[in-house]
Amino acid sequence: MEQANQMKSVEVEGAVMELPYVWHEDCSQYLLTYPDLAETPAYTPDGYRLMLTFEDACPHAALEPGIYRDCGSCRHYRQAEDSLLGVCHCEALRRKAPDEQGKDDLVELEIEGLTLKIPFVWDKGCGKYVLDYPDYLKQPTYTPNGWRIMLTYEDACPHADLQTGGCQDCGSCSHYAQLDGTFLGVCHSPSMRRTGR
Ligand code: SF4
Ligand code: SF4
Repeated sequence: MEQANQMKSVEVEGAVMELPYVWHEDCSQYLLTYPDLAETPAYTPDGYRLMLTFEDACPHAALEPGIYRDCGSCRHYRQAEDSLLGVCHCEALRRKAPDEQGKDDLVELEIEGLTLKIPFVWDKGCGKYVLDYPDYLKQPTYTPNGWRIMLTYEDACPHADLQTGGCQDCGSCSHYAQLDGTFLGVCHSPSMRRTGR
């Protein structure tokens, strides 16, 4: 009970956060409570973004295969001692100078020899940053080998080879190869391939 109304001051790379202890009925103890840093971003004086160890990994994450997909497992993350607060040292998420504000973060994705730069924007509805995919139906885009970029949730086309019982979309088509952790993929249907230039 001695922690009622207590706060803990956590300092991380020059940023200081006052965190309250809140009583949790389910485990019958006071626990340190963290702000929603996705809703209200906070930064170190050097512009690096504060994150929580248990946040879902973002598309910039540098993760070893087969481990948790969260900030705590990302090579860009440095956790503060005795807390679940840390700093993301990913340059793409670093706070921009005032004259760069408004230029959204771009995530660079490599897919079969093609590099795509996709905006990474805050989605209020789902409360997180998401990839804002272009409309590849309106802007056909191809890999160097002529295979067409599609999105997993696009309606299946007449060339589809669909799994029985699956959805009627590219993601359910045997011609489609999805890029891990995204809704982007490549259609390997010869009928959709670009020939010539
Ligand atoms: S890049 Fe930053 S925000 Fe993204 S997973 Fe790594 S630590 Fe988290
Ligand atoms: S992956 Fe290609 S062939 Fe399959 S439904 Fe999508 S566009 Fe059509």
